[in-house]
Amino acid sequence: MAQDPDFPRWLQQITATGGCAHPVHLSGSTTTLDGSTGEILHHYDTRDEPGERLLVRCRNRRASICPACSRLHAGDTFHLVRAGLIGGKNVPTTVRTRPRLFVTLTAPSFGPVHRAGPTCRPRRGGGACEHGRPLGCGTVHAPDAPAVGQPFCPDCYDYTGHVLWHAHASKLWDRFVIDVRRRLATSAGVVQSRFARHARLSFARIAEYQKRAAVHVHAVVRLDGPGGPTDEPPPWGTPDRLTRAVHASAQRVTVRTPYSPAVGELELSWGTQTDVRALHADGPDDDAVAAYVAKYVTKGTDETGAGTDHKVTTRDDINTAPVSRHVRTLMHACWDLGHLPEYAHLRLRTWTHTLGYRGHILTKSRAYSTTYAALRAERAHHLGHTDIPDAITDAHWRYVGSGHTPGAALIAAGVAEDLADCRRLSAEASQQGGGVDNSSAQA
Ligand SMILES: [Zn+2]
Ligand SMILES: [Zn+2]
Ligand SMILES: [Zn+2]
Repeated sequence: MAQDPDFPRWLQQITATGGCAHPVHLSGSTTTLDGSTGEILHHYDTRDEPGERLLVRCRNRRASICPACSRLHAGDTFHLVRAGLIGGKNVPTTVRTRPRLFVTLTAPSFGPVHRAGPTCRPRRGGGACEHGRPLGCGTVHAPDAPAVGQPFCPDCYDYTGHVLWHAHASKLWDRFVIDVRRRLATSAGVVQSRFARHARLSFARIAEYQKRAAVHVHAVVRLDGPGGPTDEPPPWGTPDRLTRAVHASAQRVTVRTPYSPAVGELELSWGTQTDVRALHADGPDDDAVAAYVAKYVTKGTDETGAGTDHKVTTRDDINTAPVSRHVRTLMHACWDLGHLPEYAHLRLRTWTHTLGYRGHILTKSRAYSTTYAALRAERAHHLGHTDIPDAITDAHWRYVGSGHTPGAALIAAGVAEDLADCRRLSAEASQQGGGVDNSSAQA
């Protein structure tokens, strides 16, 4: 490869993708014309490129699939969450004085599972379930012990409830947000339907798989005035009132599953372990919260042990997936329930690899802060791809492939590692007062 006359340009392309492990190959051209004179200001055509193609990032968020793009995604997530907490990226810095909460909502119990230390599940008098399995466990499990998160009795464990809860978790969240708004309105003496004229509730939430392979939700929730981030909330919009509303809504909201002759109708709710933490203005928590969220979004389902990174298409895929017995049983439950016509809209077979949970790892309301698209546009701008006013752009692009040959993959991985080292060194230098700008290196 290195002997190829095109190699230097190819290496430039790889470096421009940050050493992306699975770049998308595009073929085509972009022509920028002056709107009034028709003069060609800029022309780019992949015909002059190595292999007549341009490589662009895969943008996968999972470190197990693309280390380079997942790092970039984590950085963007950090800035996105942080901007909603303390401002920046076109969000006013006054948001840091608003009522802001870091909320954790869990899934309910679907049956006892082994827990990491202290003593797993002490139980005086022992006892066994109807399948003869003990109801208690006196072991102190290490956090990474294989037993942690596994049910005491797979036959007692409610796999159907677990999967259906995942399939409705996003709906449960939507109901929760609506209910918080209603509660705030009622407690402030405002007509519920007029809440939007007084205040606005914004959030960014992530879904995280716990050891028992149930999703729980971490969210930043912020209360603004009706105009969103630029607007002060009304005097009644205090952190205390918001906290009370969040606790009450987390306890009360429910979603009913559609009736199924096989399963019946389930009423789904959040678990009892709700955690609500008020974030104080200029407190030390903001960066920690943003970093925590950013770190999580790069984890693939492989890495968390809950499901797989790739969709499954057959029952055999489930049998051979490198997962625990508990997760495999969840995948089977998901696959089997996906066969029932009353659950067709939940697309459980398509989402078997995520154990029925649909939807994104990070979800945010429109007014929370900036967007991934805006952050990418800002980065393109820094790289010199500026928009020229009054210019007309004519572009034709075609997907021609993806990925690397084995040799190219090695070189790309090397480029990605070099860039990561540079970023780490620059972060260290600036921590030691070296004065290097590491605004994108914190995550
Ligand atoms: Zn990539
Ligand atoms: Zn145990
Ligand atoms: Zn049992």
